[in-house]
Amino acid sequence: MERIHNFSAGPGVLPEEVLKEVQADLFNYKGKGLSVMEMSHRSKEYQEIFDDARATMKRILNVGDDYEVLFLQGGAHTQFLMVAMNLIQEGKVGNYVLTGEWASKAYKEAKKIGKLTHVAASSEDKNFSYLPKTFNLSDNAAFLHYCSNNTIFGTEYRNDSIFPTNVPLVCDMSSDFLSRPLDTKKYALIYAGAQKNIGPAGATAVIVRKDIIESFNTGLPTMLTYKTHIDKDSMYNTPSTFPVYVVGLVLKWIEKQGLENIEKNNILKAGYIYNVIDNSEFYTGTVAKEDRSLMNITFRLPNEELEAKFINEAKKVGISGIKGHRSVGGCRASAYNALPNIACETLAQFMVDFEKVNK
Ligand code: PMP
Repeated sequence: MERIHNFSAGPGVLPEEVLKEVQADLFNYKGKGLSVMEMSHRSKEYQEIFDDARATMKRILNVGDDYEVLFLQGGAHTQFLMVAMNLIQEGKVGNYVLTGEWASKAYKEAKKIGKLTHVAASSEDKNFSYLPKTFNLSDNAAFLHYCSNNTIFGTEYRNDSIFPTNVPLVCDMSSDFLSRPLDTKKYALIYAGAQKNIGPAGATAVIVRKDIIESFNTGLPTMLTYKTHIDKDSMYNTPSTFPVYVVGLVLKWIEKQGLENIEKNNILKAGYIYNVIDNSEFYTGTVAKEDRSLMNITFRLPNEELEAKFINEAKKVGISGIKGHRSVGGCRASAYNALPNIACETLAQFMVDFEKVNK
């Protein structure tokens, strides 16, 4: 079988040329006589791979020496905890924007460890179907934390100029990281699990402004302290060597196209599917139009039976991963950077055809 049209929300589709390069180098990496998986993380060969990945990330984002780029483990979930532990000092308050399950989990994690927290905005009143655009900060705010793309609900903050600039901004970019140009300087800390747009699961990118490190809490568990990883260049313990290697290749693939082109293409791809939704009374988008995500396109059919049939028939023609998250149901098509345009065109046509037969 050829490759499927993979609309998985994550781990998601990777660029075919990256997969082929990994395959070609898997058994014997560049004639070194071993695979990347078998290399010591302290070896010169691996250090080059690691440094290259980090340098590519810095170039793509135009990140200066005032920021550190880290590759950690533990996924975004561990970042929920590390952000709260490290950045909410005594007497300071973690400010959170609640726009969905992940944003809310970050907030709950801070509360769970007894930190002072404040909800600066929330869209829970309408089941996270829109994005709040105004923010009510507490006194002594340590930061404002938000999630740029709500993977489950299908909303995305594509314009970050609406966020206040008088407070350190912290963002979970797990599901739209490097899908469009980004002004890193606006942020004190960005984190993203790799498994949607930049690589396989197992690596978590963290970009942190160094000055915010100065005031970091001390006395925290070693592995949960950013400073540990900064001081040791992400090599305090064994990093996720293979995922970081693949991330490095994906970053090169992104760099070659440029973030502007990546964004243009993402608009085009999502547009195929949103167009069908907008011109149909059979499919209904689940979120406010102006807040729709380019990464995760969520929609419903007239009833659950039709949704099950739709997902099932789609699978038969190679369209995979379009079942909505178990907590919300419906359908969700994830169109990450590496998803070929033809996949979105195929899904759009399938939607039109399915409607004709089933409405
Ligand atoms: N944040 C967002 C926006 C996500 O989409 C996800 C995973 N789907 C997470 C956090 C959790 O990531 P992980 O499973 O890597 O901890």
